[in-house]
Amino acid sequence: DFSVHFPKMGNDELSELSQSITILANDLKHLKEERSEFLASISHELRTPLTYIKGYADIAKRENIADKDRDHYLEIIFEESEKLSDMITDLFNLAKIDRNTFVINRVNVQLCNYLHTLYEKVLPAFKEKKIELELNCRENINVRIDPMRFEQLLLNLLNNALKYSEPYTKTSLSVKEEKGKVRIMITDEGSGISTEDLPFIFERFYRTEKSRSRDSGGSGLGLSIVKELIEAHGGNIEVASEPGKGSTFTLIFKEMTE
Ligand code: ADP
Repeated sequence: DFSVHFPKMGNDELSELSQSITILANDLKHLKEERSEFLASISHELRTPLTYIKGYADIAKRENIADKDRDHYLEIIFEESEKLSDMITDLFNLAKIDRNTFVINRVNVQLCNYLHTLYEKVLPAFKEKKIELELNCRENINVRIDPMRFEQLLLNLLNNALKYSEPYTKTSLSVKEEKGKVRIMITDEGSGISTEDLPFIFERFYRTEKSRSRDSGGSGLGLSIVKELIEAHGGNIEVASEPGKGSTFTLIFKEMTE
């Protein structure tokens, strides 16, 4: 009974206060649930590669193993360790974002030159999987970005295009500028994302049922980092996708103006 503790308050004020407290309590409960869900996901995701590492290390150390098999097991151990290491880097970056200790060092960049360098870097991976990669950027567009962070976010998107596409399809990286707004579009002809999954793909650890069962090696952190990074640049990201046809991720942010 609030009237005992706040005798000078009128009934309306008291009911308002009680409502605010209820809302706060609910928020707190929600936060606690989110935290515990987050911890459960982390534990699960970290445990998966560790299970492989432990299992194969155990077999590899046995004496009666052929060298060829041992090499194969060591290769798996190496790959899984890399996954684990990538995941820890992702988590570390997310923690920094959460604590607001994430520093963005923005500099002036000529966008098409910058994208061209990145294109050259990722092209071999696309060639290897026989996926065509196209860069469409002709305009003279200047932006203020943190080149390393921006590369990280573009690589996450391009890696997804690569991961979720089949050979003999095409991925394109295109740039458009309109009224001081820059759009970078990454379009693939891959598996696409169902309408049910679409609202959740930017959430931490969210992976669609399909990519879980196929185990394409992701952690479900990539897109959540992309979203945080583009927002840290004052921009945002949109997605359009059609299952079986492909997806387009669009980064939207401001052009640099003097
Ligand atoms: P993951 O590590 O699983 O790739 P992401 O956060 O990068 O995690 O993506 C979340 C989910 O969104 C993926 O598991 C996948 O199902 C879906 N997804 C992301 N990008 C694409 C894409 N280009 N084509 C199809 N599905 C995608």
